[in-house]
Amino acid sequence: MMKILIDNGHGENTPGKRSPVWGDGSQLFEWEYTREIAMRVENELKRHGVDVERLVKENTDVPLSERARRANEIAARYGKSKTILVSIHCNASQNGKGTGWEIHTSPGKTKADDLAQIFWDTANEIFGGTWKIRGDWSDGDGDWENNFYILTKTNCPAVLTENFFMDNETDCKFLLSPEGKSQIVKLHVDAILKYIKKYE
Ligand SMILES: [Zn+2]
Repeated sequence: MMKILIDNGHGENTPGKRSPVWGDGSQLFEWEYTREIAMRVENELKRHGVDVERLVKENTDVPLSERARRANEIAARYGKSKTILVSIHCNASQNGKGTGWEIHTSPGKTKADDLAQIFWDTANEIFGGTWKIRGDWSDGDGDWENNFYILTKTNCPAVLTENFFMDNETDCKFLLSPEGKSQIVKLHVDAILKYIKKYE
């Protein structure tokens, strides 16, 4: 049986990592938003009988080193190829013009690329035509290769999703809407279920 780890980045005490306050008074806090999405993904996967665990149950910011330590301890117990990690984030572009969805892996071809490919295809099914799916095609596939700590210091396949831009009002309103939340939850649940089916 595969072990699924969901990482919700940042904490209530993390500076920045929030949207502007929009005209209607709404505002997105990344730590709070990604926890809500992560909990819904967790509950939905549990309904499908999946062994899933959130890496950060605290509301405060847990350092990346501690998150990687927790992930590696679990991966050592379940087996590196029987554990996957998905880190959920919202993007920001500083100028408010960024839009769409991205997925990141560590550099080089690893098992994380198989997981990223399934996310990529699922994102295209759910958002394609409506939203931009932002690819980095430097190595022939759409995932972005990045030396993010949670991707490079963890021993199991790990991906990081950047779910739309919280500093773009159109993206942010979609993120905060019931349909937006449902689609982002569905993307993560569907992609993880497909990965389990294919690679378990
Ligand atoms: Zn983030």
